[in-house]
Amino acid sequence: MLILGGTTEGRLLSERLGADLRYQTLLSYAGRTERPLLPDTPHRVGGFGGAEGLARFLREGRFDALIDATHPFAARISHNAVIAAAHSDTPLLRLTRPAWQAQPGDRWTLVTSMEEAALALGQPPRRVFLTVGRLEIAAFQRAPQHDYLVRAVDAFDPALPRARVLTARGPFALEDELALLQRESIDVLVSKNAGTQATYAKLQAARTLALPVVMVARPHVPPAEECDTLEGVLRWLTHLHDEARKKRGA
Ligand code: NAP
Repeated sequence: MLILGGTTEGRLLSERLGADLRYQTLLSYAGRTERPLLPDTPHRVGGFGGAEGLARFLREGRFDALIDATHPFAARISHNAVIAAAHSDTPLLRLTRPAWQAQPGDRWTLVTSMEEAALALGQPPRRVFLTVGRLEIAAFQRAPQHDYLVRAVDAFDPALPRARVLTARGPFALEDELALLQRESIDVLVSKNAGTQATYAKLQAARTLALPVVMVARPHVPPAEECDTLEGVLRWLTHLHDEARKKRGA
């Protein structure tokens, strides 16, 4: 099966299935990060050339299943996966992470785009902890009055007049997040609703310090069969495997 990855879940899934003799997996990365954490299991790096390219890849590789384990903000590849699965007649399962929900004490402003997030910071200059992707920083050029602390896996030039980049890779611990927010005198956080445990501590830290958070909602992706645990994927694959055996026996 082909696993669309770029996430911890994708890597864990390929490692889990790699140990099961019934399955052969190929984990696919877009190739965005300079130092990806690559698994010991088979993998490839680079785009497919749109939905048609992915459909061709599935057909030519004679894949029996496609698992979309990409990040909830990677909307284009998830969209392409739905189209490619339909065009190549490949069963598709999306491995999702449940979105974070605001808890008592959270001070979230919900927005639906990076542009809206930049506006939600308001006019007076603030010290902003910006945990969005490198490609999404451009939206904050419309709010250049703020001091930004940008956290990213790889160093890059944020092209903002008052920004510093802090390179780090999660998971992050609550005590470290608390120390960071206090040391940097952060006034407000901007976060995507990624839903992963690995980066949840910054929201707990914001709650503890009563700091506001501008929370960017997930982009829309077309419906697909979904599950939110590795066990769910294994059950789905067992079902596919049993169905295929039944068909062969028939
Ligand atoms: P995107 O906007 O949905 O996809 C843009 C293009 O990148 C796709 O059309 C596809 O190119 C290629 N692509 C994306 N994921 C791929 C994969 N797993 N294997 C092969 N090609 C892939 O994606 P994105 O937001 O740039 O994210 C890129 C990757 O980083 C994803 O795999 C995602 O899981 C990971 N990631 C994203 C975020 C985020 O916040 N967006 C955060 C953490 C990790 P073609 O059309 O040429 O096939």
